[in-house]
Amino acid sequence: MDTNVFRAWITSAAEAIEANRDHLTQLDAAIGDADHGINLSRGFTAVLAALGGQPAATPGAVLMLTGSTLISKVGGASGPLYGTAFRRAGQALGTAEEVDLPALAQALEAALAGVQQLGAAREGDKTMVDALAPATRAFAKAVAEGAAQADALAAAVAAAEEGAAATVSMEARKGRASYLGPRSVGHEDPGAASTVLILAALRDAAAQDTDAAAP
Ligand code: ADP
Ligand code: MG
Repeated sequence: MDTNVFRAWITSAAEAIEANRDHLTQLDAAIGDADHGINLSRGFTAVLAALGGQPAATPGAVLMLTGSTLISKVGGASGPLYGTAFRRAGQALGTAEEVDLPALAQALEAALAGVQQLGAAREGDKTMVDALAPATRAFAKAVAEGAAQADALAAAVAAAEEGAAATVSMEARKGRASYLGPRSVGHEDPGAASTVLILAALRDAAAQDTDAAAP
């Protein structure tokens, strides 16, 4: 996967966030302060502007710019968390022009570690970690087993979807939703839902990668 795939990922993620902006905000209305879709929409709009104004030369540079922009433009908890995730992933990719599956697995692991360092959430706390952690594990497992790119990414998205669905029955222990205690049960975590969208955008962008699609 080259720089164009990573640019396509971020563009596709921004489109998915925009298309699901109201849904994400409604999820946050139930257990937070009704701004998750608004926060990410503002953030990814700024990311697209930043990427448009600067020819980020490597996959790592694309992700670093994405992360830095999210950190500076999103006020809510999700801005620094996603921003750190993208920055850590970008750092892990270094200056490579092409990213192979093991490198992408390491980048996902770095992103997850960054989110957990900053937010101290563990699996089961009803946060984006409940989607990102299983997705990262599923991707690493698929890559270790020699899966094709499309299959490894599909496994990651499926694991994220399962993880996000499982947040419905969890009681929030981190973030704003934790103020509700047991009343947070019965609703999907908005950050877990947006993590699914972002990973699905990666799967879709990679599927358009003509190099990988070639026999
Ligand atoms: P805010 O909570 O400041 O309004 P958002 O609504 O944009 O910010 O984002 C809320 C999401 O952020 C939650 O649904 C959850 O997934 C995620 N989140 C909040 N706190 C944490 C944390 N400590 N660790 C991981 N994710 C968190
Ligand atoms: Mg919120």
